[in-house]
Amino acid sequence: MIEKRDFYIGGRWVAPVQAKDHPVIDPSTEEACAIISLGTATDADHAVAAAKAAFPAWAATPPAERRAVVERILAEYERRKDELAAAISLEMGAPIDMSRDSQAPCLPWHLKNFLTAFDDIEWVRPLGPHAPNDRIALEPIGVVGLITPWNWPMNQIALKVIPALLAGCTCVLKPSEESPLNAMIFAEFCHDAGVPPGVFNLVNGDGMGVGARLSEHPDVEMISFTGSTRAGRAISKAAAETLKRVTLELGGKGANLIFADADENAVKRGVLHLMNNSGQSCNAPSRMLVERSYYDQAVEIAAEVAKGVKVAPASEHGRHIGPVVNKRQWDQIQGFIQKGIDEGARLVAGGLGLPEGMNKGYFVRPTVFADVIPGMTIEKEEIFGPVLAIIPFEDEEEAVRIANDTPYGLTNYVQTQDGPRRNRLALSLKSGMVEMNGKSRGAGSPFGGVKASGRAREGGHWGIEEFLEVKAISGWDSALAAE
Ligand code: NAD
Repeated sequence: MIEKRDFYIGGRWVAPVQAKDHPVIDPSTEEACAIISLGTATDADHAVAAAKAAFPAWAATPPAERRAVVERILAEYERRKDELAAAISLEMGAPIDMSRDSQAPCLPWHLKNFLTAFDDIEWVRPLGPHAPNDRIALEPIGVVGLITPWNWPMNQIALKVIPALLAGCTCVLKPSEESPLNAMIFAEFCHDAGVPPGVFNLVNGDGMGVGARLSEHPDVEMISFTGSTRAGRAISKAAAETLKRVTLELGGKGANLIFADADENAVKRGVLHLMNNSGQSCNAPSRMLVERSYYDQAVEIAAEVAKGVKVAPASEHGRHIGPVVNKRQWDQIQGFIQKGIDEGARLVAGGLGLPEGMNKGYFVRPTVFADVIPGMTIEKEEIFGPVLAIIPFEDEEEAVRIANDTPYGLTNYVQTQDGPRRNRLALSLKSGMVEMNGKSRGAGSPFGGVKASGRAREGGHWGIEEFLEVKAISGWDSALAAE
């Protein structure tokens, strides 16, 4: 059994102020695979104090030195990436090959993209030729609290810690209590990379303990959060008293608009995208909207593809989906499947209960509902499981109306060979991102949403700017060099 009870504060591993053991459950076996501690508000306070003490020196460190430290984190990743992938797979159930090929590599991917964006930052720049004595200076916001979820754990840590460090902020990370092991390996990367003491701190804990304390802490200038809309609201309220900056990356209910002229792989691609990571992605295309003339054929293809999705323990090699993260999530998903049946949607693949031949682990049958009507629970709510809702539409206008009629607005998807239609739709769908014809967004593209999906923009230069303050200066002695 892995035992990792300490927190990383001020450059060393320290015991929690009060012992509070917490088992990390392997969702493939339902058995504990590790013991960690849940921290208290006092542990959070210690970490914030360490970050506060480290801030002035780190903020004053020349950008090139901060860059060099981050590059050394990349070197640590290269040295220990298999260990990182194994930890993610064990604690949150991503199949080991998927963890190695998709989950863990989120760190180098984002890190490299951030370095590219970082090199373009002008820390002090002229406002414009009309105001020769004005300067715009970018400055780190201060101590930041970073609260991350379990579904793409290293993705979220990379999207928050790396830009915070590059910006010159010091930070306290509270990873999800469901997936703390990869975060602790990441803390070891930071330590071995020579991140100065107090610049990066990690305290494990739950939302109500450490998460809530960071959110209200007077010395924390900003909270960057990814997770549920519920927690996003709680954090915003807790943060209000101190008027700190809050950036939220929350849930989604993405629509995938498939027109009759879509490429022949569009339906298959949509189903597999939704099923990936067992449906536990905030940008999952969980509503498949299909043009009526292609609808029956699309339903048939979707059912076939879902029936072909293999479900197996996370430790098994090969292409399959693993369990969902925990019992609560499994129960919730079962509740949604039951709702779909009760409200009259047509079940064409999967359904209630464990997949055939399985008797333990939080495994869900890859499920597809057809004839879903807008307003049904499974059309409205984020399920966060391998459950697809297929909805017919008559024309472009109706498709847009259905797609936009949701409190969420993270990613929408469009599949059509008609270029002008694609461009029209890209601009009329209400979401932070629109991905079309299976083309993934390019390096450095901002990830984030609108409305109840939160309004964070993570990745690339937007992701670094979130951690910076903009200072407007007049009367600058422009005879001197800018820096
Ligand atoms: P959650 O929001 O409860 O947990 C995410 C993180 O927030 C964890 O680190 C948790 O400890 C912390 N947290 C929880 N409550 C908090 C609070 N009041 N103050 C401060 N921190 C708090 O998410 P969950 O319960 O793990 O998952 C529930 C649902 O959230 C899922 O079904 C899914 O819909 C959604 N979710 C979305 C994402 C995403 O990427 N947008 C990720 C995970 C979960």
